[in-house]
Amino acid sequence: MSRLYKTQGLILSHSYVGEADALLCIYTPFLGKLRAVARGVKRSKSRLAGHLEPLTHCSLMLARGRNLDIISGCDTIEAFAPLRASLWLTSCGLYVAELTDRLGMEGTDNRKLFQLLLNTLQSLSQGVEPSTVLRYFEFRSMACSGYLPEIWRCVACGHSLEMASHAFSPPAGGLLCPQCRPGNGPYRTVSVGGIKVLRFFSRHGLPAVAKLRLKPEVLREIEGLMQLYVTYVLDQEVNTAKWLRTLQASGEGR
Ligand SMILES: [Zn+2]
Repeated sequence: MSRLYKTQGLILSHSYVGEADALLCIYTPFLGKLRAVARGVKRSKSRLAGHLEPLTHCSLMLARGRNLDIISGCDTIEAFAPLRASLWLTSCGLYVAELTDRLGMEGTDNRKLFQLLLNTLQSLSQGVEPSTVLRYFEFRSMACSGYLPEIWRCVACGHSLEMASHAFSPPAGGLLCPQCRPGNGPYRTVSVGGIKVLRFFSRHGLPAVAKLRLKPEVLREIEGLMQLYVTYVLDQEVNTAKWLRTLQASGEGR
């Protein structure tokens, strides 16, 4: 096996180690999540500097290392400059990156998740309404990681659901009909409008979703629902979700 290999990737996060090295978490189309070291990247003369910032789409040359692979070359494919110009958009980008980090597995390819992340960063960068993009990413990232919630039939008995509000149960993994709804939690009632949006998400890509003009109350409802579901699946809240709420409370992202 050759010691050198090439891949494209999206930089999810980076942290400096030692005097000048960086430890990177990268999401790739064919290798899943990849952790690698960039040597000397903090030095101003480094050829790698500037190409390995979080939320960069790049083409990488790596050398297999004993523990971690080492980045020997890198070119930027897309830097998503508009994301970096706004604190809110940067934070939205870091949120989808963290969710990808939590869902993605090392050495297991998930091209759908890679493509979803790439399309999401492009949409945020092109000015598509960020809240809609984030809700779509949450729903679809769950779906392409094996956690697609059942939103068409009752997840317990399989009966088709009439158009009405229904209970959504994270442990059951979807909507429940009135007969299967438990007497007490954990579930959340989803409105007809909310169910319609989730069904639209399940059937359409980002270009169609980008044209939606969702009411703020429906977006808030889906945000609360997806937060509940994502937290249940990951068994922990996504750190950047808390940061986004702090920013929103201070007036960002409105
Ligand atoms: Zn049922």
